[in-house]
Amino acid sequence: TTPAPVLTVNGIEVIYNHVILVLKGVSLQLAEGQIAAILGGNGAGKTTTLRAISNLLKGERGEVTKGSIELRGERIENLTPADLVKRGVVQVMEGRHCFAHLTIEENLLTGAYTRTDKGEIAANLEKVYTYFPRLKTRRTSQAAYTSGGEQQMCAIGRALMANPSVVLLDEPSMGLAPQIVEEVFEIVKDLNQKEKVSFLIAEQNTNMALRYANYGYIMESGRIVMDGKADDLRNNEDVKEFYLGMG
Ligand code: ATP
Repeated sequence: TTPAPVLTVNGIEVIYNHVILVLKGVSLQLAEGQIAAILGGNGAGKTTTLRAISNLLKGERGEVTKGSIELRGERIENLTPADLVKRGVVQVMEGRHCFAHLTIEENLLTGAYTRTDKGEIAANLEKVYTYFPRLKTRRTSQAAYTSGGEQQMCAIGRALMANPSVVLLDEPSMGLAPQIVEEVFEIVKDLNQKEKVSFLIAEQNTNMALRYANYGYIMESGRIVMDGKADDLRNNEDVKEFYLGMG
């Protein structure tokens, strides 16, 4: 049996610049303690879906015009991104977005901005380092001089400094060598299993995402066109033909 949903997205529509309808009624669920993947090609609407959940559309001149979003049964569409972080929902943006001129450790500490207890922050930092030993060895390096994989790890580590229960992860594989992508996904799996963090992951790399997710949603032109348990999707002939080569 599937655990209760931590996140429920109900028929949302998103419009950019008042006229461009990009999400045309998207519904999905993330079960507590699980990993769900949103799959599909460039421009399908994966990033927009994550930004709708974390209320980050305003800066892009986008808005949710229909539908609802719930966190453990409570409506959250009107909460600010900062309120969402306090409630344990954080987003890791596509393209990593580390502060290039800060060290890895300084970058991680910026993720604790909603917290004040110094002891807890220090303990959290040590915890991040146990999951990302590479970040520990690079702690005093300027982010600009670390590898793409290390920067992706830094972005995830920074999100973890807010002590989230739900992480929205946008295209973690982007620009990374397959072996590094695998290393990142292994850490995600570890965090999911040991820390009980739920992950909603937008990915073009269908094959990799379905190896790690429990459940998958396939998007095309702003709609979910197929969904199912990850293992079923991996063995589905249409998915194999149209999506497994991607990424
Ligand atoms: P990608 O992997 O390229 O990020 P995606 O599946 O995440 O693809 P979105 O970034 O959500 O797709 O984009 C969905 C559609 O919305 C695309 O057609 C895109 O051009 C459009 N779009 C995205 N951002 C804006 C914006 N700020 N203003 C207008 N249209 C936008």
